[in-house]
Amino acid sequence: MIDSHCHLDLACFLDDIDAVITRAQAVGVTQFIIPGIDPGHWQQSQALAKRYAQISYTLGYHPFFYPNTLTLADMDPLISTLKNAVTPECIGIGEIGIDRTLQTPIELQVAMFDAQVQLAQELGVPLIIHHRKSHDLIIGRLKRAKFTHGGIIHAFSGNQAIAQEYVDLGFYLGVGGTITYPRGAKTLQVLHSIGLAHCVLETDSPDMPMYGRQGQRNEPQYLVDVVNVLKQTFSGQDVAGITTRNVQRVFGLSVI
Ligand SMILES: [Zn+2]
Repeated sequence: MIDSHCHLDLACFLDDIDAVITRAQAVGVTQFIIPGIDPGHWQQSQALAKRYAQISYTLGYHPFFYPNTLTLADMDPLISTLKNAVTPECIGIGEIGIDRTLQTPIELQVAMFDAQVQLAQELGVPLIIHHRKSHDLIIGRLKRAKFTHGGIIHAFSGNQAIAQEYVDLGFYLGVGGTITYPRGAKTLQVLHSIGLAHCVLETDSPDMPMYGRQGQRNEPQYLVDVVNVLKQTFSGQDVAGITTRNVQRVFGLSVI
């Protein structure tokens, strides 16, 4: 299985990354994708990918981590920094996004989103997208950009019409810890009607702990909790196999 979204570049994994990876591999989670959040963390993703063949990464500016002083005038240098940081080992652009719960002005978020979508289109790579109360904007911007390289909608939640819009745009739906909670039932229903062919697995480690593990650091090994819930929703289907192939397809990853 592949954890398609785990922030192993964060400081809380610095001391025991070997053990984290060993524990994940012991339960069948054998590949890891680290989404980029800001330039301060990109180097750590690059270093980890050099050290572990099982780790891939994307680079991007996550709206939560924009510099406090960000203005439209600062955007071009940020985007050229990103463009220069992208190397062949980098498999996509992300984690980019639009989040209406943040203080950052929405027009700045949209401009940064657009610029990064355009860069991904130029480079021919997929996206990892963060959303919160922003499906309308994200779908609108992707259509406007005529983006054609697909990607993953991280921690998807939304109704079936929204899910279908993303699928039509070539995106897979990221499925993580939320579905292990009773409140995840609605999302599970949507996923069931959309089908496993459009889902990928993710933990969002160290965040979004699984049900019963609240307050603990999340880790890729707990991807198994997500799989166990999905096995009930998609009984008789090869949850691990199908979702793994989906990640390989969207990022052009080979099997390790
Ligand atoms: Zn994330």
